[in-house]
Amino acid sequence: MRLKVLGAYGASDAEHNLTGYLIDDWFAVDAGTLTSKLSFAQQGRVQAVFITHPHADHIRDLPHLIQNRFSQPTQPLTIFASKDVFELLMRDVFNGVHWPDFAAIASPTNNKPVVQYRALTAGKRIVYNDVGITAVPVDHQIPASGVLLEIAGQSIVFTGDTGPTQEIWKRTNKMQNVVAVVTEASFPNDQQQLADETAHLSPNTFGEELKKITVDAPVYASHRKIPFERDIESQIRNLRDRRARVLLEKNYTL
Ligand SMILES: [Zn+2]
Ligand SMILES: [Zn+2]
Repeated sequence: MRLKVLGAYGASDAEHNLTGYLIDDWFAVDAGTLTSKLSFAQQGRVQAVFITHPHADHIRDLPHLIQNRFSQPTQPLTIFASKDVFELLMRDVFNGVHWPDFAAIASPTNNKPVVQYRALTAGKRIVYNDVGITAVPVDHQIPASGVLLEIAGQSIVFTGDTGPTQEIWKRTNKMQNVVAVVTEASFPNDQQQLADETAHLSPNTFGEELKKITVDAPVYASHRKIPFERDIESQIRNLRDRRARVLLEKNYTL
């Protein structure tokens, strides 16, 4: 499995990008950074996007990915999210004010909508293009679900934004051949109160989550807030767990 990390931060500037991951060049998880880091042709190869939650740093590029689809002779883009997240996306984003509902508009290239929605029942595994997809709720400020993906005999887990959580770790521990877990550490340890209040992790609470994970796979901290990235990195290293890593904006082969 190839994991292209387009954005590994919970904030953005010229050198740091919002959350966005691409697996094997066609399955994306979150859309904070997709169009801004992919060529028009690369965007056309994206067949599906799973959205963990509708916070702006996770969906910023989604309207533009859909818009570009309008002039591409490719299959419709399938957008996955848990049911409660979908309700918020439709109410607040694809509501005809913030952005059109492109599922209701036919493309001039093939007379079909450029996007289709798949609202997932929490905990229920589905199969799409031979990929097993299971949305699992996590603990954030608003409805949010991470995702378990099974691709060609390998499993990968993305929590998206979360504070301390349980269910997704129980599921992770039952998965076969987990090659990576991508979770978060947004704030340094001296801002634990802010992390708790905003339902995020610090390196300390990331370390507590690690204890709940029994699989022997790298566990990556993503979603660092820019001014604190060096502090967070050293605090993750100080956990002295060889599975604990900081997620970098680069290509991983897993
Ligand atoms: Zn976020
Ligand atoms: Zn969030």
